[in-house]
Formats: sequence, structure tokens, C-alpha cells
Amino acid sequence: MIRRLCIVGVGLIGGSLARALREAGYVDEIVGSSRRAGHLQEAVDLGVIDRYDTDPAKAVAGADMVFVSVPLGAMRAVFERIGPALSPGAVVTDGGSAKASVVRDLDAALGRVPDWFVPGHPIAGTERSGVAASFPELYRGRRVILTPTAQTAPEATAKVRAMWEAAGAQVNTMSVEHHDEVLAATSHLPHMLAFALVESLARMAEQREIFEYAAGGFRDFTRIASSDPTMWRDICLANRDALLHALDRFETDLRVLRDAVDRHDDETLQRIFTEAKRARDAFNDPAESSQD
Ligand code: NAP
Repeated sequence: MIRRLCIVGVGLIGGSLARALREAGYVDEIVGSSRRAGHLQEAVDLGVIDRYDTDPAKAVAGADMVFVSVPLGAMRAVFERIGPALSPGAVVTDGGSAKASVVRDLDAALGRVPDWFVPGHPIAGTERSGVAASFPELYRGRRVILTPTAQTAPEATAKVRAMWEAAGAQVNTMSVEHHDEVLAATSHLPHMLAFALVESLARMAEQREIFEYAAGGFRDFTRIASSDPTMWRDICLANRDALLHALDRFETDLRVLRDAVDRHDDETLQRIFTEAKRARDAFNDPAESSQD
């Protein structure tokens, strides 16, 4: 059980965790913080948080668990504010989509990586943002990756694991570096491709006609291009090295496909599509109908 949970950044990710834990009866009180009082009042009106303070240092006072779910570019400033204001015994975790950058930001903000910090990333979300888009089932049956550092206290990791399990998630742990490589390939690269494709089509002279005739395939492939631009700018900058690696590898593979089309190489096309179909058919996502 959490006595007082503080959520810094009460948007889709933070708001959904608050709703899930409240529904599970796992938390007594939820305090929110972000820049705009209007957003926080909306969260109170929706019953997501009990009260708020736009000063994160005041919001974390007395909290036994703190969840930081602001865009990656805002993490360092939040850590600088909350670090000195935490109550003894408080555990801090986050929901940022890249992990090495968050650990670096904490180190830069406090001059060390404390034992009470448990980096985390829920592999769940939608292309929508803000507290109004949050819902309590977001994490049900979905994975959450925790990436404890060499300094992280095992009891802190256990508390964060228990919190996510109460929200309905399955928790895995891995290293910060491994997380960033895996997510660059499975999440960050697909978002780059979707953004690039839609932006490229939108620039074509006949774009209106193109979008008019766009059907299911276009919709399936490009839904994630509606994701928040600021969040994705931050993710690209935060996970630069792993993302560049994934983009370079994909560029090479795309070139193979292009050359096969150019050479009328039916065998190569058949082989690539067959292998892709086999891999995709074998991918059994319990939340196929939901979003990532
Ligand atoms: P969101 O819906 O836009 O929520 C972000 C929240 O952070 C808002 O409440 C915003 O409120 C607050 N915020 C923004 N800048 C801030 C700052 N400088 N100081 C304090 N609060 C600030 O975004 P989200 O989708 O929940 O994403 C939050 C985090 O989760 C990001 O780090 C993202 O990488 C990660 N994540 C996202 C997804 C996804 O699919 N969306 C999935 C997994 C992880 P104000 O405007 O009032 O400040």
C-alpha cells in the first residue's frame, strides 16, 4: 500500500497510473504537480488526484512514493526541485521512454544516483496526451520495464514492482543500456518511420488526393504519427545513440528491398515478405487492439 503518492506530470501516463492505483485501492492520497494549475484542477475534477501544488518541491513533501512522468526534456529540472525536498524513506521512480538519459539527468541534478531511485518505463500508451486521455486499464496486462542501477536499493525496486503489479502490469527488469537498445528498435524506430512517411506524403503536391484514398494500411501504419511531437523530439535526443544505430540498420535493410524492386528480384521480395509475415504472425500481443 502507498500512503501518499505524488505524481509529477499528471498526463496520460501519470494520470492512468493514478486512476489504476485508486481503483485497486492501493493508495490513500494522490498529490499532483505540473506547470499549469488549470491542468491540475482538471485532474482534481476528474477524480484522478486529490490535491495539487505547481511547485514540485511542495508536492512531494510527505510522499512515500513519487512517480515522475514529465517529458524527458523536463526530467532534470524536476529532479533538481524535488531531490532536496523528499521525505526520508521516499522512493522515486519515473515513466520516461528512455532510461540512460533519465539516470544522467538525476546524476547531474543531485551529483549522485541515489539508492531510492528506480528508473522505469511502462510499455503502454496511446497517441493521445493529457490527463483527459488517461484511463485506469492502460497498464492491465501490459509490461513495465524497471532498470535498477548499481546504486538502487532492492527494497525500492520491490516497492515499485508491487505498485505496478497493483496497477495490473507485468514487471520485468533489465539494464538501462539494454532497455534503450530494445526500445530504440521496437518503439522509437517505428515512430520515426511513421512520422517520416506522413510528413513526406503531406509534402507531396497531390497530398489531398493521397489522403482521400488512404485506407486501412495507411491508418494502421501511421496512427502513431499523431503522437505528441514534443515528447518524441525529447525521446530522439535522449536515446540518440541507440536510435541512430537502429535507423542505420533499417536504412541498409530498406536499401536491399529497394534494390530487389529495381532488379525485378522476385525471390528476394518473396523471401523478405514471407519472413516478415512469419515473424508478425508469431507475435502474440494480448493487447493487440489497444495502443503502444
Ligand atoms: P502528457 O500526457 O503530455 O503528460 C505530461 C505531463 O507533464 C503533463 O501533465 C504536463 O502538464 C507535465 N509537464 C510537462 N512539462 C513539465 C515540466 N517542465 N514540469 C512539470 N510538469 C511538466 O505525456 P505522457 O504521454 O503522459 O508522457 C509522460 C512521460 O511518459 C514521458 O517521459 C514519456 O516519454 C513517457 N511515456 C509515454 C508514453 C506514451 O505512449 N505517451 C508511453 C510510455 C512512456 P503541464 O503542461 O501542466 O506542465
